[in-house]
Amino acid sequence: MRNAFSVDVEDYFQVLAFESVIHRRDWPAYELRVRRNVDLVLELMESNGIHGTFFILAWIAEREPQMVRQIADAGHEIASHGCMHDRVTTLTPAQFAQDIRHSKSLLEDLSGQQVIGYRAPSYSINHTNQWAFPELREAGYLYSSSIFPGRHDLYGMPGAPRFPYRPLDDGLLEIPITTVEVAGRRLSCGGGGFFRLWPYPLYRRLLERVNAHDGRPAIFYMHPWEVDPEQPRISEASLRSRFRHYLNLKQVVPRLQRLLTDFSWDRMDRVFGLRG
Ligand SMILES: [Zn+2]
Repeated sequence: MRNAFSVDVEDYFQVLAFESVIHRRDWPAYELRVRRNVDLVLELMESNGIHGTFFILAWIAEREPQMVRQIADAGHEIASHGCMHDRVTTLTPAQFAQDIRHSKSLLEDLSGQQVIGYRAPSYSINHTNQWAFPELREAGYLYSSSIFPGRHDLYGMPGAPRFPYRPLDDGLLEIPITTVEVAGRRLSCGGGGFFRLWPYPLYRRLLERVNAHDGRPAIFYMHPWEVDPEQPRISEASLRSRFRHYLNLKQVVPRLQRLLTDFSWDRMDRVFGLRG
C-alpha cells in the first residue's frame, strides 16, 4: 500500500501557535530557516527514494524561488498552502478566491508544474465554509487536503468523512488528513504534532491499522521547522503553544528515517490517481 507523504512549507514564525505574538508585518525581521530545513527533508527523501507533495506558502515561494524549482526538479509535486497562512475561516469568499489564484499561478510560474492541490492553513475548512470547495474548483484545483475529520481545540470538522470524498459533484476531491478509530474515538495520526507526541512504535501501529484494517492509504504531513531543533525560540508565546511547537524536535529526523523505511510513500497526485 502506497501512502501519501506531504510537507507544508512554511517557517517557524508563521504558525498558528505563535499568531498572537508575531504579527505578519514583522515576518521579514525573522531569520528565514526554511531553505536549509527543506534541504534536509529533500536529502532524507532522496536517500530513501521517496517522492512527496510540497504544499508551499506563496510568501515563502516569493522569497525562496530557487527552492521551489529545486523541489520540483527533484520530482516532487508542487501544491499550494495559500499566500499568507490566512485560515479560510478568516477570509471572505472573494479574498479566498484571490488567495488560491495568486498562489497557484506563482507556484506554476516558479516550478513549471501545473498546480492541482491545495491545503488550507491549519486545516481551516470545516462546516462553516464549504463554499471553499466550488471556489477551489473554479480556480482550477483538482483536490484539497484541508479537513481534519475529528476534534481538536484549534480546528477540525467532527463527523466529516475520514477518507477521500467529493463534497460536490464538480469533480474536486477532498483528501482528509488521516485519523484512526480506536474504541469509538477518532485520533489524529496524520503527522505534525501527533508524530512528535506519541512514541514511534505506537504511531507506526496506528498507520498500520489504517492500511490493514481500513484498507486505505494514510496521508502524512510535516513542516520543515520540525527538523530544526536549533530554531530561534519564541519566548513570548504561551506555555501551551511552546510545548506544542518545541516538543521532541530532536527526535523528528530519526523517527522520519524509520517512517520512510517502514512504509511505502508517494506524491498525493499519484497515490490518488489525480493526473489521469
Ligand atoms: Zn501551515
